[in-house]
Amino acid sequence: MDNAEKLWQAVKEKLEACYSKQVFEDTFQQINKIYHVHNNYIYLIVSNQFIKYKIEKFYLEQMNQFLCELIEEKMGFKLILEEEIKQEEEKKSSVALNVADKPSPIRSRKLKPEYTFNNFVTGEANREAFTFALQVAGSLHVTSNPLYLFGDVGLGKTHLMMSIGHYVLDNNINANVVYTTAQQFVEDFYNAKSKNQRSTEAAAQFNDYYRSADLLLVDDIQFLSGKTASQEEFFKLFEDLFENNKQIVITSDRPASELDLMSRLKSRFSWGLPVDIKKPNLELRKAILKKKLQFLIETPENVSDEALSYIAENFTESIRELEGALRKFVYTCVAFNQEFSLENAKLSLSSLNREKTSDAEGNTVEIERIKNVVANYFNITSKDLVSTSRKQNLVYARDVLVYILRNNYSFPLKKIGDFLGGKDHSTIAHSFDKIENGIEKDSNIKQDILNINKKIEKMNDL
Ligand code: ADP
Ligand code: MG
Repeated sequence: MDNAEKLWQAVKEKLEACYSKQVFEDTFQQINKIYHVHNNYIYLIVSNQFIKYKIEKFYLEQMNQFLCELIEEKMGFKLILEEEIKQEEEKKSSVALNVADKPSPIRSRKLKPEYTFNNFVTGEANREAFTFALQVAGSLHVTSNPLYLFGDVGLGKTHLMMSIGHYVLDNNINANVVYTTAQQFVEDFYNAKSKNQRSTEAAAQFNDYYRSADLLLVDDIQFLSGKTASQEEFFKLFEDLFENNKQIVITSDRPASELDLMSRLKSRFSWGLPVDIKKPNLELRKAILKKKLQFLIETPENVSDEALSYIAENFTESIRELEGALRKFVYTCVAFNQEFSLENAKLSLSSLNREKTSDAEGNTVEIERIKNVVANYFNITSKDLVSTSRKQNLVYARDVLVYILRNNYSFPLKKIGDFLGGKDHSTIAHSFDKIENGIEKDSNIKQDILNINKKIEKMNDL
């Protein structure tokens, strides 16, 4: 057995001890083959897209942690399908890649594993954006700096941006890929400034973190509007990286010229390469549904083509919404053990459509009730919850409220934003992500959510 195999067997034993028998058998037991070790990644061969997606989403981080406990060197696992291996082999002859001698910590943690070029379906609406993104990822030689991706909500900007990050890391584990949202940048900057006693240390950490990037990905830049100090700081960072020939990628919900930012920044953004992503046409929507289906169920061929067409025809505005509809349809059929037929698509769709058009007042009452529960739980006022204060306990309570509204009730980001005093959809998405990620790692967060849900249930019983 070679070294990588031994490592995998050792990690497997840890996984067996960590998860239930069922999870272990369904998920890890069958994985016995390693494709190769490349750039400090061990490539495990998995049998289908569904398993791959499941592991990447729920278990990969734990697997990498176990691996780190076994060796000094920084390494990680990657999952690969037989069909991907074929493509790899074809590509291989052309490129010789640097093998890392001193690997640095993997910074890809915040990149969603499934947001890769491979999983990005192209059509007329996004082909240009895809091509430029791939070009930038393939040669960080700054002919297009920054790459500026813009378009409406839910059309694939974050997906494409993260794909660039993955691509760069796949080819060089040493590359320092820093992904951040403009919102996170503002928070980091604010924290670096406000830790008075150790301000120089905090400021140095902040500087190091951002200035050491080989590739800086900044999502939803429009969030910087109105935040002058953060814009100043971002401008300095931008100049530094730019001068050092480091690649910068920015996404935004509008063209640079329409941003409400200082003109220096806007003009820097317009120097680069602006590309927009448009709304997908019917053909692309259907192709995306087919792709997403592979992640949702093991037997995508059981889903009728008419059902997919029906969903593609009815959800036209955003891909996020399209995906939500598909998920609802699939999960409903699975839960009630029904066929994936056109008829059932119509049924599940009709309930979604009802939600879409449901009485706005009813929604507001519901949100108001949940808000009260959350405020009570944290011992703060409802007003605090919608304030703009950045006090830690209020920020946390607000994040939790967002999480519950989104997770339990699927309220649209925009609606939640409006309700919380006109907050940007990206702010809301950020809050949601923080709690969603936090639940996995921090049992206190998990407990808070469980407690609040119990209170909401009780309230519903009354
Ligand atoms: P944005 O950042 O523009 O708001 P996202 O990148 O978050 O949008 O995309 C929303 C959802 O749609 C994600 O789940 C993403 O994977 C999916 N998506 C968007 N475009 C595509 C595409 N071309 N192929 C596959 N999935 C896509
Ligand atoms: Mg986004």
